[in-house]
Amino acid sequence: MSANLPVTPRHGDVLILVDVQGDFLPSGSLAGPQGDAVLPPLNRAIAAMQARGLPVFATRDWHPADHCSFQAQGGPWPPHCVAVSRGAAFATALNLPPDAGIISKATRADAYSGFQGTELDRLLRERGVKRLFVVGLATDYCVLNTVQDALKLHYQTLVASKAARTVLAAPAARGASAPKARPPGRDASRYTATARAACSATTC
Ligand SMILES: [Zn+2]
Repeated sequence: MSANLPVTPRHGDVLILVDVQGDFLPSGSLAGPQGDAVLPPLNRAIAAMQARGLPVFATRDWHPADHCSFQAQGGPWPPHCVAVSRGAAFATALNLPPDAGIISKATRADAYSGFQGTELDRLLRERGVKRLFVVGLATDYCVLNTVQDALKLHYQTLVASKAARTVLAAPAARGASAPKARPPGRDASRYTATARAACSATTC
């Protein structure tokens, strides 16, 4: 255990901060129940990566004002993370490194995964990334979908909860003698079901 990451970071690792944006935090239009408590562990994880010179990427929901996922357009959500708006900005208390890679998603069609319709996979491969630590908001939607895509793309992928608890783990690096994936716990099953329902409800 190291700095809220499930294992000690090493060369080939990357930290992916998922949607740590104002609208998903208290006072935001889609605030989750965990609130700002997630920020100190995230900052510790960032510091652990920086101390080793390892890369950090941050995804962000970056919607047009009439995005298809908004209720006015028949989607499931209230307006949130409209590009350039205050709610779309990263949390002010997040110690985002100046050289962090910024990945804007769902700029047109909807996307829960940081890989969907973005350059994230190419950028990670250019940097020789093999293993992802995925953290951020929210576990039941964008974190989950980002993890699922990462696994499909054969990255070893670990998720750290705000309390540094690994809720999903599925190492699958090509040819690597990685340990077997842990079976998802009850929480993970619930997250999967919730995310699937949300995905099928959002058709652009
Ligand atoms: Zn969104």
